[in-house]
Amino acid sequence: MKKLVYLVLVLLAFTSCKNESKLPVEHVQQQKEKQEFSIIIHGGAGTILKENMSAEKEAAYKTTLEEAIRVGYNILKNGGSSLDAVQKTINVMEDSPLFNAGKGAVFTNAGTNEHDASIMDGKTLNAGASAGTTIVKNPINLARTVMDQSPHVMLSGNGANTFAKEQGLQIVDPDYFYTERRHKSLEKIKETEKLELDHDDKTALFYDADIKNSKFGTVGCAALDKNGNLAAGTSTGGMTNKRWGRVGDSPIIGAGTYANNNTCAVSSTGWGEYFIRAMVAYDISALMEYKNVSLQEAAKEVIQNKLTNLGGTGGIVAVDKYGTMVAEFNTAGMYRATMNAKGELSIGIYKD
Ligand code: ASP
Repeated sequence: MKKLVYLVLVLLAFTSCKNESKLPVEHVQQQKEKQEFSIIIHGGAGTILKENMSAEKEAAYKTTLEEAIRVGYNILKNGGSSLDAVQKTINVMEDSPLFNAGKGAVFTNAGTNEHDASIMDGKTLNAGASAGTTIVKNPINLARTVMDQSPHVMLSGNGANTFAKEQGLQIVDPDYFYTERRHKSLEKIKETEKLELDHDDKTALFYDADIKNSKFGTVGCAALDKNGNLAAGTSTGGMTNKRWGRVGDSPIIGAGTYANNNTCAVSSTGWGEYFIRAMVAYDISALMEYKNVSLQEAAKEVIQNKLTNLGGTGGIVAVDKYGTMVAEFNTAGMYRATMNAKGELSIGIYKD
């Protein structure tokens, strides 16, 4: 009798153990459909509504998103690293005036452009970032150089500008970053701010109203290469009318960018202050690492529950070690594109 009870107990323990370590359904499917490599990008999230978009503008965004992702896709297809794919893909979007990164960066309160960027290698957990640079044409290249050529993870302001010069990165006159569209946004936001300050609470957050109704436009990329290495990167001009050397989430490892070969690679876009407080990119990875949930579940939990409950808006793009790609956002839209190992391309702007 004793023996029988013992046997039942052992059997029970064995079944519950098995259940605990059982992978969620999504994970099993991901393993079955493992992609040899894959790449996903975003060009910012926000109030992007079809009724406010002209056919030409929509076509222009789609063309540049496709051009950018194809650059990374070809690198991956030819056996290149996910880090190179992420960097070169982001370069295309940085060189376009359409996105709030590089050429198309938004203006600060002082009428300047200050760029933030970061990149992370999921294989080594090495990372590089730069904040508040003003003369570096492609800030993601600076982030990569900080990672590869310096003993540090993040450089900022004048020091970062100097390091970029010393490393021979492409330097431009600050005027290079002038675009009429972004300058108009600054003027508009300053007018609103003035009206609000004249009549209302002078201590109110000066850019709240506009943030809630604006597109953010940061760019980012996450990729898995043929060697199973994950990488992610993000580049931005930050938020219109920012001041006091404000730095958002984009150059913060764990908030704007994160990559770990054991879990996933993530790039964020949205209202940076909230992404920093929620540690969005790392939180998704941590859920996968410690709770063994799928990328889809982790991304949904962090964006739709944690970030949303805090009051933050925006989204992420991510890829896991199986090559599964996820775009999750709580805004009306997010410029995004994916390509898998078969070369299948998908581009999205609005909520489907
Ligand atoms: N997250 C960026 C920032 O707060 C803005 C954006 O995503 O467009 O600086």
